[in-house]
Amino acid sequence: MRGESFRPGGIRSLVDVLLDDGWDVWLFNWRGSIDLDPVPWTLDDVALYDHPAAVRYVVAETGAAAVKVIAHCQGSTTICMAAVAGLVPEVTTIVSNGVSLHPHVPVASRAKLHVLRPLLQSREAYVDIAWGDGPERGMRTLTRNAVRLWHFECGNPTCNMASFALGSGHPALWLHSNLTHTTHDWIRHEFGKIPMSFYAQLAASERAGQIMSIRPRPELPTRYATAPPQTQARFALFAGRHNRVFLPTSQKTTYAFLKRHQPGRHSLHVLDGYGHADVFLGRHAHREVFPKMLTELHR
Ligand SMILES: [Zn+2]
Repeated sequence: MRGESFRPGGIRSLVDVLLDDGWDVWLFNWRGSIDLDPVPWTLDDVALYDHPAAVRYVVAETGAAAVKVIAHCQGSTTICMAAVAGLVPEVTTIVSNGVSLHPHVPVASRAKLHVLRPLLQSREAYVDIAWGDGPERGMRTLTRNAVRLWHFECGNPTCNMASFALGSGHPALWLHSNLTHTTHDWIRHEFGKIPMSFYAQLAASERAGQIMSIRPRPELPTRYATAPPQTQARFALFAGRHNRVFLPTSQKTTYAFLKRHQPGRHSLHVLDGYGHADVFLGRHAHREVFPKMLTELHR
């Protein structure tokens, strides 16, 4: 996805709500953003280079003493990795959605990660959610057609491919009832290529039960949720109860880890009636979700 994904048209977005509440809002495109040329990134690259650089940039531009972060999915995983590794000391609050240090995925996703991924990996450097829309041939067409047949719940090829590539469910990323027709159509331009290097790290981390470094470097831990977190940031963890990309136990397990090391400091919100990305894209998120995030930012 990309930074602009936090600001869909036609609904009252998180950005609208933050601006109205008086915040200076910055959207961040890290190296996985579809606005940039695709590269085979890992979570380690993003945690080590992208988030620290972005935070330093915002601090330098604004003169602010501290930065608060709202992050989603792999944006959340990577900012949490950077934080527990002590790489973003300027960050005082992290509002995280979906997953942070413990990726728990549905059973069917585990099969895809550990059986299908090694098969695809030798043929493709990326899974492209646009396979749903393009003129591709061979393996890509086969994948796309199989995905379309399986995802009979709607006729939006991006919605179908996103369910296949990122989770397991009909659909996996949201409850259809939470999206307006306009938003459901808008997503067709908001997803892009996912590198096999990311899936490889996710597979290793899923097996280990916590985020694992895949290209070890001296500045980064090998296991991200073993040693005490090297940060004073407060974490507010959010999980949609119907999330079929990362199960809500992902955030519950990270919350238990944080609480063990820093009791009484962090919080967990499990949202009824929400899945994964509809926490930000939902038609009623401005009433049902964002006020909870604002409360966490002000705490
Ligand atoms: Zn759909």
